[in-house]
This record gives sequence, structure tokens and C-alpha cells, in this order.
Amino acid sequence: MLDTTRIDTTIERGVDFIYRLGQKQKCFASYGTFLVCCFALLAATSRNPRLRSLGRNRAKEFLQRWTLLHPSLPADASSDLLFEFILIHYARRRLRLRDAVGRTALKRAARNFSASDLLGFDPVKEPPPNDLSYRCDCTFQNPRGRKVCKRCNCRLRIRSRYKVWMEALANTYVAETSGILFGARYADVLKWMPAMRPYPTGEDNEEVLRDAIYAVTHVVYTLNDYGTYRLSPRWLPREFAFLKANVKSACSRNDPEILGELLDSLQAFGLTVTHPLIEHGTKYLLAAQNDDGSWGDMSEGNIRTRCHTTWTAIDGLRAYSWRGERLSRPALKSGWSTSRN
Ligand SMILES: [Zn+2]
Repeated sequence: MLDTTRIDTTIERGVDFIYRLGQKQKCFASYGTFLVCCFALLAATSRNPRLRSLGRNRAKEFLQRWTLLHPSLPADASSDLLFEFILIHYARRRLRLRDAVGRTALKRAARNFSASDLLGFDPVKEPPPNDLSYRCDCTFQNPRGRKVCKRCNCRLRIRSRYKVWMEALANTYVAETSGILFGARYADVLKWMPAMRPYPTGEDNEEVLRDAIYAVTHVVYTLNDYGTYRLSPRWLPREFAFLKANVKSACSRNDPEILGELLDSLQAFGLTVTHPLIEHGTKYLLAAQNDDGSWGDMSEGNIRTRCHTTWTAIDGLRAYSWRGERLSRPALKSGWSTSRN
């Protein structure tokens, strides 16, 4: 039997770690927007009332700080900054607060960008591609198909098609909940699910496998409005099987970041702490918490990774107040249920 008091204490230590890190200027500047969302979702979807009010208070505090830094959307906002405003809009909605920047301004700003500008590809015309690179260390974003940076000649890291799909799913979904078209419709991104199967196995490249797991967890998050609804495994049998197949290896690879996402997604499919996989993963997370309350590599220099790993571990451990079994938008089901491959 798992000790629920111990789970609650472990979660609160994790939440405190993120809060302390977020108070640092450097962290807030780089990851503050996501931390507002982290706390807003904690407030909106946790079953534990203490965690709900803790999340709400911290979300509001960080939101105030965010608004001081970004009082209004600049006319020449980059696509990244526009997306941060959209995330804040979503967080405010989850907290049932009135919008600071109206969605009309966001809608108008989104029209300045094409699907390729925002998502790297146009989901109306093609599936998520395998030829987009990450931004170069010199900060230059190279055009598609480049293997070497145009500006500094460095070798570029290629984003897997799963990574590209995951970001497009999350970004178009969150924007659409505010009535904003972020380059393409969410349904046009989701419809490529059959083309993304079969998902990689443990024998494949580890980075691609991790990206595929993130992509599938984001299918879950966007279909269940980030921890709001339960999904039936019958709607997505292949995705359900893929997530289940990766729990034990995430533990043996010491990957709490992936494990956290696997556990909350599997809980969305109806597995509870009495299921052996959830129990196995929960025990791993309880044992793997660092002394400072975080999860993951304490020497990791990337502050966003430090926050995100702890965030997903918290989400993997916490219980949700599900609002029934349904899709975020029921009309979506016809988008993939007819495909048989
Ligand atoms: Zn470069």
C-alpha cells in the first residue's frame, strides 16, 4: 500500500522547489510563463484542496509579476512572445480570472504569421516533417532542410517529427481554447496520428523514443484539456499500449521527467494507484526525489529542464479531480477513429 500522506508531503516539497526557483529573476525571465501555467493547472485539476489553494495563490502571485514584465503585447512581438501571451490567457481562464490582454489583440497578432512561421510546417498540406532543426547555439533559426548553420557553420541538431508534432499539438490546442488560430487548426495537426504510428520501441534511438512519448502524452493532454477529463482506452488503444509499455524502462533509465508524464496520462486513461504500473512508477518517484525537493539531475545547468522535470514528477504523483470521461471537444473523435492503420 502506498502512503498517501507521504505522497502529499513529497508533492508539496516539489511545489516549493519550483516556487523558490521561480522567484529567481533568471528563472522567471526564461520560464515564468510556464510556471504560471504549472500552478494554474495545479489549482484547476488537483483533487487535494490544499494543493488547489496553494496552486492558486502561487499562480496569482507569478501572474502579477508576469504582467509587470509584459503589460501589453508589443506590435512587433515575436512568435515566441505571442505564444507566451496565449499561454497566460489559457492560465487565466483556468483560474477563472478576467483577461488582461484581450484575445482580439492576440488573434490579430497571430494573423501576422504563417503556419510555417509558427509550427515549422503546414499541417493542412503535410505530416510533421523530419527536416527541421533546433535553433542554433548562435541563436539563428535556420530554414528547413539545413544540416549546417547558415550563419556560423555549426552542425545543427535536427528535431524529430515527433517533437515537431508534439509542439504543434500543444500550441494549436492552447490557442484554440481562446479562439485563436495559431497557424493551423488543432484538428489538422491531430489528424496525422495514423501517420505517426507505429511508435518507436526501446531498440530505437532514445531521443526519438522520448520525443514520441512526449507526443503521445500531449495527444492525451490536448484531448483531456490538461488533466481535466478522463479518456477511454478504447478511443486510443495503440497510444494507451505505447504509454504502458514505457513505464518500467523510464524507471530503469532514471528518467523521472518522462515517467511523470506517463503516469498522469495513464491515470487519465483510468489506471489508479492500485494498478501495478502506477504503483511501480509512484514508488520510483517517491524514492527519486532530491534533497532540495526537485527531481532529475541536480547538476543540470538548464533551468527550464530543472523546472519541467520537477513539474512532471509532481503531476505524475498527484491525484486529479476528473470531470467525467469525455474529450476536450467531442467533435474531434471523428478525426482519427475511422483510421485503421
Ligand atoms: Zn549558428
